This record gives sequence, structure tokens and C-alpha cells, in this order.
Amino acid sequence: MKTRYDYIIVGSGIAGLYSALLAKEQGSVLLITKGSIDDCNTKYAQGGIAAAIGKNDSPELHFRDTIAAGDGLCDEETVRILVDEATDRITELVNFGVPFDTLDGKIDLTIEAAHSVPRILHAGGDATGKHIEVTLSNQVRSSNIQVLEDCLATEILVEKGTVRGIKAFDCHLGSIEEFGCRYLILATGGAGQLFKFTTNSDVATGDGIALAFNAGAEIVDMEFFQFHPTALRLPGVTPFLISEAVRGEGGVLRNVDGYRFMPDYAPEGDLAPRDVVVRSIVYEMKKAGSDRVFIDITHLPSHITTTRFPQIYRFCLDHRLDITKDLVPVAPAAHYMMGGIRVNDRGETNIAGLFAAGEVACTGVHGANRLASNSMLEVVVFSKRIMEKTRKGTKLEAPIKNVGTHYSLSQRQVSKTVPAPSLSALQRLHWNKVGIIRNQECLTKAADTLATWQKSLPQPTDRHSYELNNLVLTGRLVTEAALLREESRGAHFRSDFPQSSPQWQCHVTFTK
Ligand SMILES: Cc1cc2nc3c(=O)[nH]c(=O)nc-3n(C[C@H](O)[C@H](O)[C@H](O)COP(=O)(O)OP(=O)(O)OC[C@H]3O[C@@H](n4cnc5c(N)ncnc54)[C@H](O)[C@@H]3O)c2cc1C
Repeated sequence: MKTRYDYIIVGSGIAGLYSALLAKEQGSVLLITKGSIDDCNTKYAQGGIAAAIGKNDSPELHFRDTIAAGDGLCDEETVRILVDEATDRITELVNFGVPFDTLDGKIDLTIEAAHSVPRILHAGGDATGKHIEVTLSNQVRSSNIQVLEDCLATEILVEKGTVRGIKAFDCHLGSIEEFGCRYLILATGGAGQLFKFTTNSDVATGDGIALAFNAGAEIVDMEFFQFHPTALRLPGVTPFLISEAVRGEGGVLRNVDGYRFMPDYAPEGDLAPRDVVVRSIVYEMKKAGSDRVFIDITHLPSHITTTRFPQIYRFCLDHRLDITKDLVPVAPAAHYMMGGIRVNDRGETNIAGLFAAGEVACTGVHGANRLASNSMLEVVVFSKRIMEKTRKGTKLEAPIKNVGTHYSLSQRQVSKTVPAPSLSALQRLHWNKVGIIRNQECLTKAADTLATWQKSLPQPTDRHSYELNNLVLTGRLVTEAALLREESRGAHFRSDFPQSSPQWQCHVTFTK
């Protein structure tokens, strides 16, 4: 084993960078990331980061909105921590240099779906994630944190129930190396690449889920995958996100006939919770036999649109759409993984020394449906708490206890006729059979196919094949959890069980 560090952090999105900057005050830090330091989902975040700092707002109101969105599955204690510690963490981001937008000398706030008041801080209009990523990565680059780019974590080393280090694949040399550490923080992000249409970047391949599961960690709530209602839908163009803040600023959804349909589906209209808007769009598309609806902000003064949403304006213009004059074609796309590695309110897993932060972790704050702009807040609040937990001199206590119902991946009939998986086949499978509207028949077919693929996958030899292996395992966890949950709740909708059931007000947890 090469050098031993106090901290090894895997991932360089907001969770990895922010954790590394705090950790360097407490010990030696190695940050490894599978691409370049700026490859992550974080830099695509548009809307912003939620915090109850407005005049008519309070942590209590933020708490209530978060709980309501989570549809009965939020962990109330961790939500309380999230909303109470938000202001201090925002101050810390400002101190790191994140340039939040201001209006008349005060931080400017916008509103997004299911927030009862404006509470979203943003930077560069709709470029919040980019500003956060650039600010933090510049700080990391100019610090004593050791950074290894193009280095993909492949295995967590555990001895007697305690983390000892990590194995990683050097994407240039094609070799495996081992690094030792006292604390390992997985900050590997989500798994949007499971689906044919996703707002996520290429790095979102569920690696952290697969690493943790294989090491014996608990994986929870995987059936809850949030689909964003409005990703640009143009042939051959990536499903670029059209932020919810566009509707927050007055944008409305129209069907192919130009009809404003959301008030027919929900009293909150265009600002109804994401899962409600997504399903309403699906119904409208189905009715019209179309693959898109439209978002309309042509009624806003054009200077407001272009200054508030410069990235969206520019991206659409590059594809010959002027959003100040034209309707923008949109459709839902996979966006955010609510489930993940089960952690407590200090980011600890059931393996001593193993922590998880960011989208890969499940702290319980999102429940069955994430409230918009709560994810980057979750990152900073709970990464900070990991650092408090691991501060020098703090004793590493026994890891969190197993609770609730535990499942292992079911044995399935493996078919010999299924061809070897490719990324596009896997993405089509999830989109068609494990997507926005699910049922037992589709889920069972997907589960059988994934089990067959898992058996047929060759030993990985490069970054792509490691990622494909990780996606197949993560996909199995999503699909099997979705099969088990025979009800509809939050982002998980079963057409064969369209109601929620009190019996399912519980979590589905997998262990190896
Ligand atoms: C288009 C878009 C818009 C969004 N808008 C908002 C918003 O407005 N507000 C909000 O709160 N949230 C938003 N989100 C969600 C939010 O951006 C993410 O949840 C958050 O940024 C995740 O941060 P992270 O650090 O956990 O993961 P990421 O930023 O995805 O970083 C993960 C890192 O881990 C690395 N990695 C992965 N696997 C490995 C491995 N095996 N070995 C080494 N490195 C690895 C990746 O390369 C990457 O650097 C948005 C997401 C998207 C996609």
C-alpha cells in the first residue's frame, strides 16, 4: 500500500471539494476523481441553493416544505438539522468566495416549485453550480490537498469491519493502485446515466453505490429517482436542463395545442411538486401522441429573461431557439437519485471509517421526493458534520446500527438469449421499464435482464467497463426496490398500485 492519509475523498463535485477544503484543516487529504477535477454534475446546477434567509421565511417554513415534498418518508430529525444549519453553511460558502447574486445590496432570492416563499440563492443568474465548482476547485488547486485526476476508485478495502483504504484504477496507465486512509469519504454523485434521457453528466454512473454495496454498506430508498419535468427536447441535442426557476419567474407549460394544462392537474399549477408536473406532462404527451410539451416565457420582458437565465438563453440560441420569443420544447428527464448509501446525521455508514456525502448518500432529508435546490444545501450541511465527527481526537464510535427491513438482491432466472449489455441498451431498458410510470410486468422484465447482464459482464479493464458494471448493479438495486414497493409515493409511481399505502411508510434497504 502506498502512502496512508488521514482522509481519502472520492469525487470532485461540491461534496468532494467542500469536504476536502474542510478536511485539510484536520489532516492529510488525498482527493481522487475519475476525470478532470471539473467533471461532475455540480457544475450544471442552475437554479441554486435553498436557505431560509429571506424576510418572510424561517427554518420552520423550510422544514414544512421539505417534509411535504418528501411525501411521508423524510427523516424529520435530519431535515431539522438541514434547515437549522443552512444559514451558517451559506455564510461559509460566501467566505470561500462563491459570488451569489445580489439585489440592492442583499442576496437575491428566487422561488422554485413546492417552496412556499422565495428562498433560492443563485449565482451568475442560472450558473450557480458552475460558480460553486470553480470557486471551490480553485481553492483546492491552490491548497496542499493532493489531487489525483483520471483515477477511478474500484474497491473499498475493509478489515475487521473498518475501512483501511481504497483500490483505484489509473485511467492513463491502466494499472490498479492501493491507498490507505483513516477516513474514506465517498462523494461520487448520482446515477442519472442509467436512463436514456437525463440531465446528468457522463460521470453519474452509480460508482459509489456499487463500491459501498460491495463493501457491505446499506443502500436505501433506491426506488426514488427524481425526473425533472423540463429538459430541452430537440432531436440529437442533449437534454439540457431548463431550470425550474424559469417557472418560478413566471414561465408556464403548454401542450402541443398551446393550452396551459397544469392548472387542470394541480392547484399549484406550474409550480406543483416535480413528480406531479412530470406525470402531468407524460399524460399530456400521451394524449397528443407527442414526445414534448412547451415552456413559455415569452411574456417576460426580454432583458429579464436574458439576465436571469443567461446560460439557458445562450444554449437555446445556439440551437436556433430564442426563448424571449419562441416556445421551448421540453420533456422529462432523469435528474436526481434520492436514495443512496444509508448514513446517519454525521455522514457515517454501517462500516467504521466509511462516510458518504452528497448525492451518493441518503441522509433521509429528501424522502420520496427532493424539494428543489435542497441537494447542494444537504451537501454542505452534512459534509460539515462529517468533519466535526472526524475532528482530531474524536473517537470513532461503533458504526450506525442496522434498522428496518433488509433485503438482498433476489436470485433470478438467468437467460442465455439476452445479448451482452451496452450503455445504450441499459439506458433504454431503464427508461422504458423502470422510468416515470412503472408496473410489475415491466419491472420484472427489467430485473431479469439486469440479473442476466450482471452474470455476463466481463472483468472490467478500462473506465467505461468499470462504469458499465457499476450501472448494472445500481440499476438492479433501483429496479428490485421499485418492484418491492407496491404503492405509489413521491417520485415512485406504479400504475398497478396508484395509491400510497400506510404499510409502505418505511424504507427498502439492501445489503450484500
Ligand atoms: C443539470 C442539473 C441541475 C441541477 N440543479 C440543481 C440546483 O439548482 N440546486 C441543487 O441543489 N441541486 C441541483 N442539482 C443537483 C446537484 O447539482 C447535485 O445533486 C450535486 O451537485 C451533487 O454533488 P456531488 O458532489 O454529490 O456529485 P457530483 O457533482 O456529480 O460529483 C461527483 C464526482 O465524483 C467523481 N466520481 C464518480 N465516481 C468516481 C469513481 N469511481 N472514482 C473517482 N471519482 C468518481 C465524478 O467524476 C465527480 O467528480 C442539479 C443537477 C443537475 C444534473
